[in-house]
Amino acid sequence: MKEMVVLYPAMGMGHLTPMVELAKLFLREGLAVTVLVVDPSSSAPFIAAASAAHPSLFFHRVPTASLSPDSSPSSGFVRMLDTLRQATAHIRPLIESLSENSTVRALVVDFFCTDALEVAIELGLPCYLFFPSAATSFAVQLYLPTLHSTTSTSFKDQGDAPIHFPGVHPIPASHMPGPQQDRNDAGYKALLVHFERFPRFDGILINSFESLEPRAVRALKDGICLPDRPMPPTYCIGPLIVEGKTSEKHECITWLDSQPKASVVFLCFGSRGSFSAEQLKETATGLERSGQRFLWVVRAPRNEDPADNFPGPWPEPDLEAILPAGFLDRTKDRGLVVKSWAPQVEVLAHEAVGAFVTHCGWNSTLEGVCAGVPLIGWPLYAEQRMNKVLLVQDIGLAVAVEGYDKELVRAEEVEAKVRWVMESEGGSELRKRAATMAEKAKEAWKDGGSSKAAWVEAVKVIK
Ligand code: UDP
Ligand code: UDP
Repeated sequence: MKEMVVLYPAMGMGHLTPMVELAKLFLREGLAVTVLVVDPSSSAPFIAAASAAHPSLFFHRVPTASLSPDSSPSSGFVRMLDTLRQATAHIRPLIESLSENSTVRALVVDFFCTDALEVAIELGLPCYLFFPSAATSFAVQLYLPTLHSTTSTSFKDQGDAPIHFPGVHPIPASHMPGPQQDRNDAGYKALLVHFERFPRFDGILINSFESLEPRAVRALKDGICLPDRPMPPTYCIGPLIVEGKTSEKHECITWLDSQPKASVVFLCFGSRGSFSAEQLKETATGLERSGQRFLWVVRAPRNEDPADNFPGPWPEPDLEAILPAGFLDRTKDRGLVVKSWAPQVEVLAHEAVGAFVTHCGWNSTLEGVCAGVPLIGWPLYAEQRMNKVLLVQDIGLAVAVEGYDKELVRAEEVEAKVRWVMESEGGSELRKRAATMAEKAKEAWKDGGSSKAAWVEAVKVIK
């Protein structure tokens, strides 16, 4: 019988894409892989492409029961966690049917899908956690239940007071993820249940690498994030990022081909980032005044909190209406605005790109790091403010725009940070650091590299 691993990602491209990269690693080890997907509607094109490219990679849809109206919580985030919890009730028969023709070696689950740990235990299967974000963010979440038991104050009531986690640069309370701000919130409670399960996994796979986050990796190895309990083995096997090749050449790649080397500032804000109409105008003005070349992915303005757009199809933006009058015409020789979506990995790999303004989502961060470009952080939602603290204060790979945590980032600030990175001495220092880290990212997966070694170790245990 063939040997198989079953992977169970959470919803959202930021969770699915690194899990599929992990699947490819297992395939290379000669293991069959089945990926269980919940609500694949928004990811259908991605799944179709991955299946076509890897015929031995199987995707299985997990049925979701519709939530009864009275149990339906208001926040999109809690609804997402609830949907996953309900879906997990259906994975036991799926795994049992897979076991009829294969020997299932392990179940690997996203950190939002930890209910599956109980299923694995019932079936007597080893169960591994896959954490698609930073080791630093994992260290924080692992320690959160301990912190929770020693205080009764919510982060939201502590302003910018530094919160101390083992192995992590102090994080201002205001920079903890949105759903974790209020300990009485349903999102906080649901996350705590997931985080409390972390120590019970057989091992933790993290999409990061040692030389990127030495402090957190050491703390995890030393077990200091988990006082009084044994720490499961952690395997930092990153960076796992999607391949940059797309079949058709996007107009923005053709445009980049005609720009000078390292001259273009690329602005792109993840799968969910969007801004108010006022912010779009400020950003445009700042870019125009900077005099720098730019490639900017613009979405239609939204007024609601981006954290509640879960997931969200993008309405076509009317660029003439939302950008300042005459902006597109005045900047046409040095700027390109792309509607809603750009092939980010391919863009970042292009030699014309000289800086990346990012929302600090972890996939975007790794993609920027691997491309060796200096980062300008503009965190928006999820754990991105924590990532910004890591990138700016801890490891010095980014500078951040001021005002991301206020109502508006002013045009002057956009101009100042773009100029600083592209024109100043400090900016060229940042560029050198970025280039060095890109080399280290490559080394991590070479023979003798830390991620390769961690992967070999993990596979040995799983097989
Ligand atoms: N992405 C892209 N084009 C876009 C916006 C996003 O290709 O216009 C990709 C990006 O390369 C990354 C992913 O979408 O792989 C976003 O993941 P991340 O973890 O950075 O942010 P999230 O979407 O989870 O907030
Ligand atoms: N989140 C969290 N801790 C983390 C990562 C995410 O609490 O380490 C929360 C975050 O606040 C957000 C939600 O989980 O509201 C969804 O996370 P993410 O943005 O990564 O999901 P995606 O958009 O990629 O599906």
